[in-house]
Amino acid sequence: MEPLRGGTLVNGLPEEAGRILEQAVPGRSKVDWALRWLWKQPEVAVVLSGMSHMDQLGENLELTERAASASWTSHDAETLRQVRQVILKLQKVNCTACGYCLPCPHGVNIPRNFSLCNDHHMLNDPAARARYYSLLGEKERASACIACGECLEKCPQQIAIPDELQHVADLFGT
Ligand code: SF4
Ligand code: SF4
Repeated sequence: MEPLRGGTLVNGLPEEAGRILEQAVPGRSKVDWALRWLWKQPEVAVVLSGMSHMDQLGENLELTERAASASWTSHDAETLRQVRQVILKLQKVNCTACGYCLPCPHGVNIPRNFSLCNDHHMLNDPAARARYYSLLGEKERASACIACGECLEKCPQQIAIPDELQHVADLFGT
């Protein structure tokens, strides 16, 4: 599931990461990169990709049909390693939006706060702050966290959630 991480691997990649992909294999789409990598994993038997347009369905079918014979070179692997480094460098919080930390007993929307924070850092997105106020109610914002720590042991990524939420609150204001 989520082979494109909710579309983030297509629409949410930092510019630097996109440049690396384009220089490595000009013209290969980000969807192609992602699905090609997945289909090369021996554990993967089915890929469930959310699609909202017929052209996306067509592209996915085409990529899947040629996945078996598609090449995967050491150059490809090295390219994705570089892209990963860029993402790790720019990403502020390694939140996968799994939601295991929810519900917060005080109503904080933990993954949404981290997503907006990452948009700000990774995409240099000036609208992230506006979305913090428009998409999140007052009690859902990072500033509503009272640092009770109840969410800490639920996070498989071992994120220091209250500390990171404090960063988000400082970043966007209260
Ligand atoms: S530490 Fe903050 S986010 Fe975590 S459960 Fe407590 S109030 Fe909610
Ligand atoms: S459990 Fe951790 S990784 Fe999952 S949504 Fe919460 S903060 Fe993010």
